[in-house]
Amino acid sequence: MAEYRCFFCKRTISEDHVRRRVRCIYCGSKILFKPRTVETTIEAV
Ligand SMILES: [Zn+2]
Repeated sequence: MAEYRCFFCKRTISEDHVRRRVRCIYCGSKILFKPRTVETTIEAV
């Protein structure tokens, strides 16, 4: 199970949440990245 991290509040978000909508469930940010892999930033349009 992959985890993403919020670019702004630095909290981790499970991939399950990101699949539904690319958005931080804590602060509402739309910019998340994967901390463990090569830093891939995904941004919702
Ligand atoms: Zn956040």
